[in-house]
Amino acid sequence: MSDTIFTKIIAREIPADILFEDEQCLAFSDINPQAPVHFLVIPKKPIATINDIAEEDEAVVGHLHRIAAQICADKGVAEQGYRVVMNCNEYGGQTVYHIHLHVLAGKPMGWPPYQEKLKTA
Ligand code: 5GP
Repeated sequence: MSDTIFTKIIAREIPADILFEDEQCLAFSDINPQAPVHFLVIPKKPIATINDIAEEDEAVVGHLHRIAAQICADKGVAEQGYRVVMNCNEYGGQTVYHIHLHVLAGKPMGWPPYQEKLKTA
């Protein structure tokens, strides 16, 4: 897998507002926030998409969720609630090919997230 902008953030080659770090993951604020609170939680291991998650990666993917919840608790938004999203490939809206949880909080969010009618073949 080629390097992405997130590899450079892990290596501190480009700056980010880092919220949390441990051996397995890094969390930082999204540069283009879509909610009052919007941060990303990424594994340090560069896994390109959800389709590339191997059995050996199951623990780290679970870890990303636990850290997301912990940061939400620290920010005081856990009880109000929040949204966790992971986009996959083109139709999922993925633009950075290093898996990441989007964590969005601080306002009520609607569902469904888009209004287009489903097209049938
Ligand atoms: P995706 O579209 O792949 O699901 O999400 C990628 C996210 O990464 C976007 O929300 C985008 O704003 C964020 N992003 C892209 N480049 C940077 C960057 O250089 N720094 C930070 N902090 N976020 C970035």
